[in-house]
Amino acid sequence: MKLDRLVFLDLETTGTNPVSDRITEIGLVEVDADGTATHWSSLVNPEVPIPAFIQGLTGISNAMVKDAPTFAELAPALHERLQGALFIAHNARFDYGFLRNAFSEAGLPYKSDVLCTVKLSRALFPTERKHNLDSLIERHGLKANARHRALADADLLWQLWQKLNAGLPADIFNGALQSLLQRPSLPSHLPTDALDHIPDTPGVYLFYGENDMPLYVGKSVRLRQRVLSHFNSDHKLYKDMRLSQQLYRIEVRETAGEIGALLLEAQLVKDLQPVHNRLLRRQGDLCAWRLKDDARGHTLPVLAHASEDDFGRAERLYGLFSTKRKAETALRELAESHQLCLVQLGLEGRVGSNKPCFNWQLKRCKGVCIGKEDESFHRARLEAALANLHVKVWPWPGAVGLVEGEGDRTDIHVVNNWCYLGTARSEDALWSLLEQSPSRPAFDLDTYKILSRALSRKDLKIRPLGPQ
Ligand SMILES: [Zn+2]
Repeated sequence: MKLDRLVFLDLETTGTNPVSDRITEIGLVEVDADGTATHWSSLVNPEVPIPAFIQGLTGISNAMVKDAPTFAELAPALHERLQGALFIAHNARFDYGFLRNAFSEAGLPYKSDVLCTVKLSRALFPTERKHNLDSLIERHGLKANARHRALADADLLWQLWQKLNAGLPADIFNGALQSLLQRPSLPSHLPTDALDHIPDTPGVYLFYGENDMPLYVGKSVRLRQRVLSHFNSDHKLYKDMRLSQQLYRIEVRETAGEIGALLLEAQLVKDLQPVHNRLLRRQGDLCAWRLKDDARGHTLPVLAHASEDDFGRAERLYGLFSTKRKAETALRELAESHQLCLVQLGLEGRVGSNKPCFNWQLKRCKGVCIGKEDESFHRARLEAALANLHVKVWPWPGAVGLVEGEGDRTDIHVVNNWCYLGTARSEDALWSLLEQSPSRPAFDLDTYKILSRALSRKDLKIRPLGPQ
């Protein structure tokens, strides 16, 4: 990648608040395209007293800055110097924020591409835990002249840059730079720091629009990456563009793992009904075919509804379908492909009328309707045809906890009859969840799918919680 001019910069200040605190010293190392480095620094009169402990930390006293230029006096020349250069600092958000604020007070708006050396170090050495300046000095053998003075600290960053550039393969170093500098352009209504605190853990993210209207709920095992992918410039999905334009606020909820994220997502989509979650939004009239034996001992599929029957406990249940129409279409298709009788299935005419069904005339029925096929044969073929749609019976006498994660980050997802009752992180929360749960929570198709998939995982820890 092409980097024309770099400015490694460090500020000393009277405190940590970029609005109420002031700059006391600026130090920078300016590096041209040919590698020529120019050092520059100046004390700055903050026009307010420096707190004693800050004087102790930096060694910059009130007396030292008394006759120094103010920021307003330094601003025009400094502004010109920084123009068009890549701004590089350690915890760059701090220095960049301070500087932008000071420039704006001086009537000189300032904006720049920014590279944070903390993030650079983290990207290049992801297994190291510490990335503060002292750790970097030790790790890379940098030479510190006067720690906590602006020019000395700026020079450390320049040294770090040279060590990394020389010591790492070019594609690794440049790759890290590229990914850090290609910041996705943030949606215009989002605060600039909106993405800073999104962890790269499993969890659920919520996008809100104006007046906190829920726009979208999504889940990922890597939250940060997933949220950023919505705003990538090469991600030109119309839906994402519309989302970006409407987005005002992002909320994230961490979970211990993927199952928790899936369950929470399904629940939030149902509760909040975000405008962009069309696919999951409506459950409709959840139904399934249930095989029943009539008075003559014939086996018939009868449509059962989740609103009336307990799908978690029902046997001989096949589905699931979001509407009655879909259920009938599916059964009709099975009848066609398995040469089942439409009359016997209740999809045509009346059972027991002894009139041949339409399919018999087309030679697509084996004749159970007119006694040419034994009913038990037809039943066996019907059960075989439906086998793939079999709804599993809840395999426990009561609720169980699905244990996900470990240590501090352990989630216990409480489920019963294929229904998700909630997630607990402690024993107390667990028992109060069980106490509060309704005697028959609503059966939900998304949750059923998530749970039946999760339960087939061999590594899943399951804790029986007894019949409730
Ligand atoms: Zn028939």
